[in-house]
Amino acid sequence: VADHSIPSPEIEEAIRWRHHLHRNPELGFEEHETSAFITGLLSEWGYSVRTGYGKTGVVGTLSRGSSTRAIGIRADIDALPISEQTGLDYASRIPGRMHACGHDGHVSMALAAARACSRNGFDGTVHFIFQPAEENEGGGRAMVEDGLFRDFRMDSIYAMHNWPALELGRCVARDDQMMAAFGTFEIKVKGRGAHGAMPHEGADPIVAASQIVAGLQTIASRNISPLQSAVISATQIHGGDAWNVIPEEVAIRGTTRWFDEDVGATIEERIRAVATSVAAGFDCSAAVDHAFRYPATINDPRCAAILRATAPKVPGVTVVDAMPSMAAEDFAFMLREKPGCYFWLGARKDGANPGLHSPSFDFNDKLLPLGAQMWVALVADQLAGA
Ligand SMILES: [Zn+2]
Ligand SMILES: [Zn+2]
Repeated sequence: VADHSIPSPEIEEAIRWRHHLHRNPELGFEEHETSAFITGLLSEWGYSVRTGYGKTGVVGTLSRGSSTRAIGIRADIDALPISEQTGLDYASRIPGRMHACGHDGHVSMALAAARACSRNGFDGTVHFIFQPAEENEGGGRAMVEDGLFRDFRMDSIYAMHNWPALELGRCVARDDQMMAAFGTFEIKVKGRGAHGAMPHEGADPIVAASQIVAGLQTIASRNISPLQSAVISATQIHGGDAWNVIPEEVAIRGTTRWFDEDVGATIEERIRAVATSVAAGFDCSAAVDHAFRYPATINDPRCAAILRATAPKVPGVTVVDAMPSMAAEDFAFMLREKPGCYFWLGARKDGANPGLHSPSFDFNDKLLPLGAQMWVALVADQLAGA
């Protein structure tokens, strides 16, 4: 039996932890019960536990032997503001809160691995990092700002996401780009309100906003090289209250995605130029606010190679290649500070296979032993100087 294997009663128990967490989801920076649950178990297994990184983040550290080698393993712990529709017996007890991204599974896999590591002989240090608020709020950045890498020395850092679109056990760890950078924007188009029957007496911000949305489509198609990736999606338009009144103002909101920083800068500059000039052409004005939110998630090629070499040591895991995703991930903030690797583990289910963030999503428990054993194998390989 290889030393990364985890006995099945412990896998069964980890699945029960997963169902417990699933029943009790908490939103970003509010994961108090979740953190207490994690802290309790890590302490039981002899980990030194520090809390309060990124408000509700937890770091469990275990050192053995005399080696100064150290690895960080990160699991995200937050849930989403979604009303669950799975009908499972362990479905969320809290209306409007749901583990719809499988972070309950990420926590349980990391905990099962931490327990196994506490029994294994190794030489060096492992830090299990439980990160709050991955969804939108940048808990990864908050942990870095609170001194994660100042207080815990580590050579490299790894994180995983379950990936329902990939067959169970397929592992993707790219050498560079994994997930895109993202921004958000709001454009306030101001006109002059008027009677809907006498439009010539006002300046219609709805017509101007419509042309702005059409104009935004030209940024990716006409300002960015066809060989680079960019997304500009207007996802909200708000304006007007009556059938027969042209409103004073319309708000357009949306999200932007890119990999190269130059492309991000071009997107921001062009949103501003298109919105203000189109609005001016319709006798309106546009106030543009674009915020850079997460950087791109870029792997270190050496860490990605270590991960790809370790993965197949776990029966049921195979390494495949795939395109990066234009979704975003705040592990990017940690990868800016430390070399590391973010990877996907295929989690496809037979039959209906609802995707991440679906109200019908449920983490695939068959992935739990694969992910947990991969962490154990990675700790062994990395600390052995792979
Ligand atoms: Zn998510
Ligand atoms: Zn997620």
